[in-house]
Amino acid sequence: MRPSFPAMAAVLGLGAAVAAQMDADVGAQLMRDWSVRAALDAARADEPRTIADQTRLCEIPAPPFKEAARAEAYAAAFRALGLRNVRTDREGNVLGERPGRAAHPHLVFSAHLDTVFPEGTSVTVTRLGSLLRGPGIGDDCRGLAVVLAVVRAMNRARVRTPGTITFVGTVGEEGLGDLRGVKALFRDTLKDRVDRFVSVDGAGLGITHLAVGSLRYRVTFAGSGGHSYGAFGIANPIHALGRAIAGFADVRSSSDPKTTFNVGRIGGGTSVNAIAAEAWLEVDMRSPDPAALHALEGRFQEAVDNALAAENARWDNRGQLSVARTLVGDRPAGGLPADAPIVAAALSVTRALGLTPELTEGSTDANLPMSLHIPAITIDAGGQGTGAHSLEETFDTTNSWQGTLRALLAAIALAQ
Ligand SMILES: [Zn+2]
Repeated sequence: MRPSFPAMAAVLGLGAAVAAQMDADVGAQLMRDWSVRAALDAARADEPRTIADQTRLCEIPAPPFKEAARAEAYAAAFRALGLRNVRTDREGNVLGERPGRAAHPHLVFSAHLDTVFPEGTSVTVTRLGSLLRGPGIGDDCRGLAVVLAVVRAMNRARVRTPGTITFVGTVGEEGLGDLRGVKALFRDTLKDRVDRFVSVDGAGLGITHLAVGSLRYRVTFAGSGGHSYGAFGIANPIHALGRAIAGFADVRSSSDPKTTFNVGRIGGGTSVNAIAAEAWLEVDMRSPDPAALHALEGRFQEAVDNALAAENARWDNRGQLSVARTLVGDRPAGGLPADAPIVAAALSVTRALGLTPELTEGSTDANLPMSLHIPAITIDAGGQGTGAHSLEETFDTTNSWQGTLRALLAAIALAQ
């Protein structure tokens, strides 16, 4: 566990937040239940179908803010599996219920529909042996397919849970989506009705129990612009942008807690022989520690202020630049200790399957419920991935069934 955690736990008042208690031995107990074992067998036998779903869903484009086509296919899959009350909420999240013997505990079990890839990106998936290649194939087509596999296996083995599970495909997890789907879920669609939350996201077998928070800004320098020769000497937005990036790039952020920054996109200008009227950047800053994140944000704002002042004060300056900053991303930090019931349950079911659990930190849909003190984790969906968020993303299906079975057992355990 990270040394920075106890302080954070104190800040968040964890412990009081956890309502229902689960047995830390829940994994071993469930393995003694014949219907649970039948469900695990069904899921393992069905892994080829899960991989086929993963590929099929991935070949439906789901760019940021344009997830509707994939959402429609996901809703159809929910209906085909017999989930109740299948619907799409106002934000675009797809929901379907599998009632238990009671309404509570109410578990939300989800994966995200969106990708980071813009409209027009080729989303063809190719397969070579055990290796699938395609943008989004692991993050998070794998999670979407595993969620369907969980429902299918529970249906096949007629597993009845004490509590109710709402299965969800969320929109807007990535990038400038800024968790808009999960935010809407907890603000409107399922407000005050969720007891536990699981996001199934990406490849591997990790369990994310610490939420890395992030702040994202779009910063635009603007001026009059002009001819590169005739107007030479006026303050130049692109040059100011360069100064800001150079200034910020020299900042040395903390390594513990790991605190990072990245200018991920830049733009501006109209022609090589024109002084731009506008130049912009998008920056992402992350940390599991809110204080470290805000300190870093201060250094960023300072770099922008200094760049503006330096460009405006430049020799022979005949123009004045302005700068506008827009907060385009605000993902709250949060986390749970390893002995929090929801984390302990995830560890227990992983071990019950003979797998070695690993606790990790990340920035996922679970950030939001964690920040609301609702027990939440993100679990990896099995297999092995490379190149997430790149066009060369791959997913190795070798033993990927392990992730499916772990997700299945976690869903059953958390609906107890
Ligand atoms: Zn993801």
